[in-house]
Amino acid sequence: MEELSEIDVISLLKDSGLRVTPQRIAVLTFMDSHREHSTADEIYLSLKQEFPSLSAATVYNTLRAFIEAGIVKELRNGDHASRFDINTSSHHHLVCVQCGLMTDVELPEVPLEKIGREHHFEVSDYHVEIKGVCSACSGNESVVH
Ligand code: ZN
Ligand code: MN
Repeated sequence: MEELSEIDVISLLKDSGLRVTPQRIAVLTFMDSHREHSTADEIYLSLKQEFPSLSAATVYNTLRAFIEAGIVKELRNGDHASRFDINTSSHHHLVCVQCGLMTDVELPEVPLEKIGREHHFEVSDYHVEIKGVCSACSGNESVVH
């Protein structure tokens, strides 16, 4: 899978019309360097050592602001906590039904224009979730995530 280059978080905040705060920089920098679709709690727990004044509510509100500004996508995950994706381009995920892990997966191109024509349907976006059990949960591979 193509490695995404690190983003300039301050420029991204400014270009998105968001006020630049240390908390927002910290959350966005964390999401840029950890692209495994963290939950809000995971982001909070990872940052609270370095930023003792950070609260879980601030992380949650920061993520809401990022979603509204269109720089982060919320991935709803059934009974599991939502995960947050800094990659807002159209792409697809493997979803573990046991632990909730979400992993990017590349799929063959879907003929959206043809489908739209046939169904008289204006396609705006699509997202495929392939559900199953990850290797850590199935024990098929000694992969730790
Ligand atoms: Zn799993
Ligand atoms: Mn993703």
